[in-house]
Amino acid sequence: MFALLLVVMPYAHAGPAAQVPVRDTAAFDQLIRELDNGDIPLNTRAAVEQALDRLHTLLPPDDAHRQRQYEYMYCFLAFDNDVNAGYAYATRGVEQARQAGDLEAEANFQMCHGLYQSQVTTERDALPAYEAGIQIARHLENPRLIADGLTWRGSAQSLLGEQAMALFDFLEAQRLYEAVGNTTAAQSNLISIATIYRRLGEYDKAGDYLQQSMASAQRKQDRQEQMVVDMQLGFLATERGDPAGAVAPLQQALALARETGSRQSVGSALLALAESSNARQRYAEALQQVEGAAAEFQAVADKSSAGMLALQSAVAHAGLGQHELAAREFDLAEANVRSSRNMRYLAELYDQRSRNQEALGKPAAALADLRLKMKADAALARMAKTQLTTLMSYQFDTERRELENRKLAADKVLREQQLATLERIRRWQSLAILLAGVLLLLMLWLAWRQLRQSRRLHQLALTDPLTGISNRRHIEDMLHAAVDVARRTQSELAVIMLDIDHFKHVNDSHGHPAGDQALEQLVHVCLDALRQHDRLGRMGGEEFLVVLPDTDLEGGLQVAERLRACVAAARPVVAGVELQLSISLGVAQLRPTETGAASLVRRADAALYHAKDNGRNRIEAAL
Ligand code: GH3
Ligand code: MG
Ligand code: MG
Repeated sequence: MFALLLVVMPYAHAGPAAQVPVRDTAAFDQLIRELDNGDIPLNTRAAVEQALDRLHTLLPPDDAHRQRQYEYMYCFLAFDNDVNAGYAYATRGVEQARQAGDLEAEANFQMCHGLYQSQVTTERDALPAYEAGIQIARHLENPRLIADGLTWRGSAQSLLGEQAMALFDFLEAQRLYEAVGNTTAAQSNLISIATIYRRLGEYDKAGDYLQQSMASAQRKQDRQEQMVVDMQLGFLATERGDPAGAVAPLQQALALARETGSRQSVGSALLALAESSNARQRYAEALQQVEGAAAEFQAVADKSSAGMLALQSAVAHAGLGQHELAAREFDLAEANVRSSRNMRYLAELYDQRSRNQEALGKPAAALADLRLKMKADAALARMAKTQLTTLMSYQFDTERRELENRKLAADKVLREQQLATLERIRRWQSLAILLAGVLLLLMLWLAWRQLRQSRRLHQLALTDPLTGISNRRHIEDMLHAAVDVARRTQSELAVIMLDIDHFKHVNDSHGHPAGDQALEQLVHVCLDALRQHDRLGRMGGEEFLVVLPDTDLEGGLQVAERLRACVAAARPVVAGVELQLSISLGVAQLRPTETGAASLVRRADAALYHAKDNGRNRIEAAL
């Protein structure tokens, strides 16, 4: 019944109009249908009055069902300006229809009951009545009635912020209206769908629907519907953050409301204008509009806007510096808005009240309100998100496709972002590989340097620092190795121990550093005198060991003689003084019976001492 019956005419009569004798069942049914479908524009109080009169005139006598049809029509149309009376009438109607077992009438009365309930208390309280009406309508499998119920419930849910649920209801209603060919109701329903899109923040789409609806309302010359669209255009502009743009449509809605005589609609338009005035900081103007709206609502006992009235009044008073008064009004508004659970209004309320608390010098209360505002905002965001998600899962041709396209576009952006990220990762990977390569080279170089270092250390550990030849440890190692080889290959091995004669004298005469130089030079003389495979090492002081692989005693003696002769012939110059030095040498050959290098060296050493004893600068063979 009257899908978007937001505005109806007041009805002057207290009860059904007087009957006239003409009664025509078919004509009654036809008129009921036309009224039901909204095909008869009820732009003025006179038009409503006339329609109800005609309906009553056509009512057949003793037809209880049609009598109830007339009554529920009366319920919807007659109490616009006295909601309490309408509420009582609807309550009684539900009861009587139920007793009579007239389900169709009961469903209609339930919806009428919901309509007045929402005005007497809140939209939320109206929901059970709408549910009951829908349930009966579904049971009756009456698509029209179902659609009406869905439209009522959808409007209530939308006002309560349940936009997705509301949209489902409107869309189902839309399908049903179209299925039964009720284009008028279907057209009006578009306004409801536009409202949902507005509340979902889809302003462009809401605007499109409203333009369509306005064109249709103008074609039908339906001023009520034009007014509703104008109101919606005003709300849309306000929510878009263009309160100045809201003024023209709201003024238009106000004029139409006054023309049609609906005090509620006048009240709604004034309240919306007050909101716009507040937003434009025209507080005095806003207050006048709030007062005007309050008077209109009061006249029809409509309390559903009490919260919003108090809120706008509070904002205006706060704007005018009357913060104490504003604070009281905010609290009043809070109680009302909270019970209606309208999150949008609640967020607005806390935001405004917080400013007022600040002006009153109550920072703690201001902060508390800001927190509440944030909570309400978060709840709104959550709701919007779940609602959009719910909508996505809903089948509705173009809307769904559009939403899906948007989702696809979002997915594409996401994929591109992911690709870009992958690309970046790949670039990083290449860089990482390059770095790893550089690192590897660096490590190899370090390892090589380490190896070289350790080789050098090893070398140092084996080398005599003064002369650069093998130190004692190294020459002994080489001797052990040579002994092993000689044993294995049964080859000869000879060694020479040699010692510089009277070297102490060099130090004493020319100083220790000169002695060092002389040592170095003599070592080079000896190295030059040796064969490629012979090894020279310093045993300590000015005493040296020569290892001669593949050499017997005879060969060893020859080498020793060469060394002796070379040293004796050499004239090392140290500290500018030419020296003449000599060496004494002891030669020993490895015996087959000899167990180790130690005894070989000992025998060579003994031979050396013999050479010393026998006058120096000479060679002795070991026994
Ligand atoms: P001889 O062997 O002929 O009996 O007489 P000598 O003077 O060489 O006696 P000895 O072998 O006992 O002394 C060795 C001297 O050589 C003692 C020390 O001053 C000197 N000497 C040993 N090692 C070094 C060295 O590295 N540098 C210098 N400048 N002198 C050294
Ligand atoms: Mg000596
Ligand atoms: Mg010596």
